[in-house]
Amino acid sequence: MRDPHLHLKDMDPDALRGWLVAEGDRAYRAEQLLGWLYARGVDDPVEMTDLPQELRDRLRSSAVRTRSLETLSVQRSVDGTRKAALRAADGAIVEAVLIPDEDRTTLCLSTQVGCPLACSFCATGEMGFTRNLRTAEIIDQVCRMREALDPEERITNVVFMGMGEPLLNLPAVLRAIRILVHPRAFALAPRRITVSTAGLVPKIAALVEAAPVNLAVSLHATTDALRDELVPLNRRFPLATLFSELGRLPGLSARRPIFFEYTLLAGVNDSVGDAERLLTLVRGLPSKVNVIPVNPHPGSPYRTPPDAAVDRFLGVLSRGGATVTLRRSRGSDIDAACGQLAARDFVVRPDRPMG
Ligand code: SF4
Repeated sequence: MRDPHLHLKDMDPDALRGWLVAEGDRAYRAEQLLGWLYARGVDDPVEMTDLPQELRDRLRSSAVRTRSLETLSVQRSVDGTRKAALRAADGAIVEAVLIPDEDRTTLCLSTQVGCPLACSFCATGEMGFTRNLRTAEIIDQVCRMREALDPEERITNVVFMGMGEPLLNLPAVLRAIRILVHPRAFALAPRRITVSTAGLVPKIAALVEAAPVNLAVSLHATTDALRDELVPLNRRFPLATLFSELGRLPGLSARRPIFFEYTLLAGVNDSVGDAERLLTLVRGLPSKVNVIPVNPHPGSPYRTPPDAAVDRFLGVLSRGGATVTLRRSRGSDIDAACGQLAARDFVVRPDRPMG
């Protein structure tokens, strides 16, 4: 059922300004409201003390929502990674993950409840698909996860790599990005934001042209036969189509490369031949390759490759001139690592309506 409320956080800064002006308010109230909602993290209009009382009263109306997610639980990994289960108004569960590192704290956001793309190694794909998240639910993940920060921490990077395929929900993702980068909201530099796709070719250029953020492509295989199996979207947009589109993208450079994510699965895609084909695919594109040994989720048929196989794979890539990074997944003890997000404790399935 359609939510009849006006969610303030669904509006990007321009839309918020437009709405206020249409309501008879001054345009600069939008900047004040962005400061309260995002920079200061205040949801209750009563506390927005530099807004006129009459506007605060309107924002408190039962038709307006300033908060779209509530925190159900926050689990903390031994490595400091935190995974939160967040509940939307319709009961849908969304997961977000905070990953502290030496010089950065990265927040991984979800864009859908479940995912329709059904990648074979991914726990989210196994959930099936329920619905897209609204902008307010994407941006409220940032607000709720900021409450889970340690005192000395602040969010320095945001990646759209949680549950869902971001480009299937592109308008909401772009509105969230405009809020993330606005100086009165989260003031994040676009180069600190990364949007990941499994290869939804018709939407890639639209993302790159709309926002100067990083693009990450979840590749995982170097032949169509294997990629059809691992990433079924490949049947619609095979490797040649994907790479032809990537080669046409404007604005790519060594400073703005494409990131290729390659989940390494023992005995499946970790051979020398796989590494050589990967080199051939990315050659000529400004790119960086992130190799991620798989985190098998319960019931998964895949296994983590032994260190020798990982080293061999990385060696072929780096000797061939690729810029390659080994990413050891974080938070695997709390099912927060790549491919493990499944709201497992709160399973919501499309055939079981949420109340
Ligand atoms: S890997 Fe990403 S695109 Fe594939 S099923 Fe999982 S969430 Fe969806």
